[in-house]
Amino acid sequence: MTIKQKQCLLAYLGYYEGAIDGIWGRQSRAAAEAFLRAYRLSGNGDFNETAEKRIREIIATGEAPATVDWWQDIRYFQRAEFRCPCGRCGGFPAEPEETLVRLADQVRAHFGSPAVVSSGVRCQAHNDALPGSVPNSRHLLGKAVDFCVKGISGAALLDYVKTLPVRYAYPIDDCYVHMDVL
Ligand SMILES: [Zn+2]
Ligand SMILES: [Zn+2]
Repeated sequence: MTIKQKQCLLAYLGYYEGAIDGIWGRQSRAAAEAFLRAYRLSGNGDFNETAEKRIREIIATGEAPATVDWWQDIRYFQRAEFRCPCGRCGGFPAEPEETLVRLADQVRAHFGSPAVVSSGVRCQAHNDALPGSVPNSRHLLGKAVDFCVKGISGAALLDYVKTLPVRYAYPIDDCYVHMDVL
């Protein structure tokens, strides 16, 4: 992997904010170290081949940093399902909120049918590009999800969601519901 590639991947995941200049300096080393710490990987700011392999895997799977360990309790959803789909921001400009994902899991368990997330975390650019989105959407904070449950009407889904400690919920269409938390 070239230095520029390493810088791009670290920037994609939000650890590097410097120029993609192919110079492995202080900022690149600090970004590499922050990445290694977040995923509890050995190594140093040199970013060796093991780190290269892991960063590729992490980007492909949407794996959460080791510092975010409550995903182990979640039965039905994967972090990757909440990723911003724009392809430019790294997918997680904010972490999905724990209380939100736990509630979604509870909804999924209640209905006993597969759930589909149509929108989880959004970066500002992706949010702004969506028709009808509000500029300060709670999706930007990882605190909102749009989802449906297979075989369940949006009305029935909304009725159940409204019994939960959500901040706000509304129907999107016949199937999908927006739900957000504080
Ligand atoms: Zn994005
Ligand atoms: Zn929404």
